[in-house]
Amino acid sequence: MSIKLYNSLGRKKIDFAPLSNGQPKMYVCGPTVYDRAHLGNARPVVVFDVLFRLLRHEFGAENVTYARNFTDVDDKINAKSAETGRPIRDITDETIEWFLEDMAALGALTPNHMPRATEYIPHMIEMIGMLFDKGLAYEAEGHVLFRVEAYEHYGQLSGRSVDDMIAGARVEVAPYKESPMDFVLWKPSSGAEPGWESPWGFGRPGWHIECSAMSRALLGDTFDIHGGGLDLQFPHHENEIAQSKGVLGEDKFAKVWIHNEMLQVEGKKMSKSLGNFFTVRDLLDQGWPGKVIRFVMLSTHYRKPMDWTEAKAREARATLNKWSKGISGVDANPKPPASVVEALRDDLNTPKLIAELHKLARDEEWAALRAALDLIGFDDLSPSALEETVVGAFEKAGLIETVVSKLDAARAKKDWETADRLKKGLMDAGVIVKISKERTSWQVTPEFDASRLEVL
Ligand code: AMP
Ligand code: ZN
Repeated sequence: MSIKLYNSLGRKKIDFAPLSNGQPKMYVCGPTVYDRAHLGNARPVVVFDVLFRLLRHEFGAENVTYARNFTDVDDKINAKSAETGRPIRDITDETIEWFLEDMAALGALTPNHMPRATEYIPHMIEMIGMLFDKGLAYEAEGHVLFRVEAYEHYGQLSGRSVDDMIAGARVEVAPYKESPMDFVLWKPSSGAEPGWESPWGFGRPGWHIECSAMSRALLGDTFDIHGGGLDLQFPHHENEIAQSKGVLGEDKFAKVWIHNEMLQVEGKKMSKSLGNFFTVRDLLDQGWPGKVIRFVMLSTHYRKPMDWTEAKAREARATLNKWSKGISGVDANPKPPASVVEALRDDLNTPKLIAELHKLARDEEWAALRAALDLIGFDDLSPSALEETVVGAFEKAGLIETVVSKLDAARAKKDWETADRLKKGLMDAGVIVKISKERTSWQVTPEFDASRLEVL
C-alpha cells in the first residue's frame, strides 16, 4: 500500500507520491520565538515528526528534506523586548534553544533546515518585488499590501469566496487598504523597531511572506508537503498560497496541505485566563518524561481535537514502563511489523498503530515491538532511562500533592492561617502554587528543595 494522506487542499485523501524521483520535501510552520513552547505548540512538532519518520522509512533518510522555520521577527517579540529591556536577538536565541531542548525531549528529530525569518529578508524583498510586477502588490502610507481581489484563485484552501470573507470579517480595516481582505507584505519600522532597508523604505515584513520566501529558497518553487496547525489554515496558509502561486503560477508551490487539529486541556481550550495553560517544560519539570507526552499525543489521530488529561498521561506512563521492561535486552527485528507500517501509511493512523503495539505486547512479540517503537521515535526506551525519571519525579510529585491536598482541605474548612502557612511553605521549597476556585495547580521550579517540604 502506498502512503495515503488527507490533503486539506481539495479536502480528500490522496495517494502520496513525491514530485521529484523518490525525494519528498516538506515545509512546516514553526513557532514565533518569544516564550517557552506551550503544550499545543508541541502537537504539530510530534505529528510532523511522525510523518518525517514515515517518509524516511519509505524513501530512505537521505532522500527526505524537512524544513521548519522560526518566526523571529514579530510584534510579540518586540513587545517582550520593550517590556524586559533585553535585546531582541537575546530573546529569540534563548527561546530557540529552549524550543529545541524541549522538542528533543519529546523525541522529535531535528529538521534538515531550520531557517530564521530574519536571515531571509532579501528573499522576501525579492518576492514582494515580483508581486508588484504582477500587479498583486501596492504601496499605501508606507505599507505594502497584497491586492487580494487581483488574485482570482484566492480562497482555494479555505473554500470560501472573497465576498463571503469580507462579509464575515470583523476586523477593523486600516483606512489605507483598497479592500478589507488585503494583507500586509511590508510595514514601516520606527527607529526602535527592528527594520531593514527596502525599496519601500526602512521596515519589516508582514508574517505570511516569510514562509513563501523561505520554502522557495530551501525547497524550490514546487514541493510536496506543507504543514501546520489548523489555526494557520486561514489566513496564514491561504495568504502563503496567494503570494507564492501569484508569483510562480498555479501549478507551483505545495501540493499536499496537512493540518493538525488543536490541543485542549481537560476538555477546555488551553488559555492563560482559565489557568490551564502550561508549557512543555512545566510538564517535564513535573517529572513527566518526554516520551510519555509523545505517547499521549500519538494516542489521538492528528485530525481530531486532542484532549490532554493527567489520566491519559498516567496510563501512558504505565504502558511505556511495562513495554520498556518487555523489550529490555531484546534486539529489534530488522523491520517493523507490516501492520504497524500500514497503520501509519493510512493517513498517520497512530491510534490504530498503538492498538497494534498493545497486541504485540500481549503476545510478547518483544523484538517486533521494539522495531515498531524504533520507527515512531521511542528508540531510547530503556527501562532505566524511563524509570529513573519516573520514580524520581513521581516521588517529587507525590510529596507535593500531599501538601497541596492539606492546603485544599484547610481552605475548605476556611482555615486561612494553615492554608497560608502551607502555601508559603510550598513557595519556600521552590513550588509555584496557583489557587483558583476549581483547583489548586502547582509547578516545580529548578530551585525545588524536597527537604523543605518534609516539615509541612
Ligand atoms: P505559533 O507560535 O502560535 O505560530 O504556533 C506554532 C505552531 O503551533 C503552529 O503550527 C500552530 O498551529 C500550532 N499550535 C498553536 N496552538 C496549538 C494548539 N492549541 N493545538 C495544536 N497546535 C497548536
Ligand atoms: Zn508559515
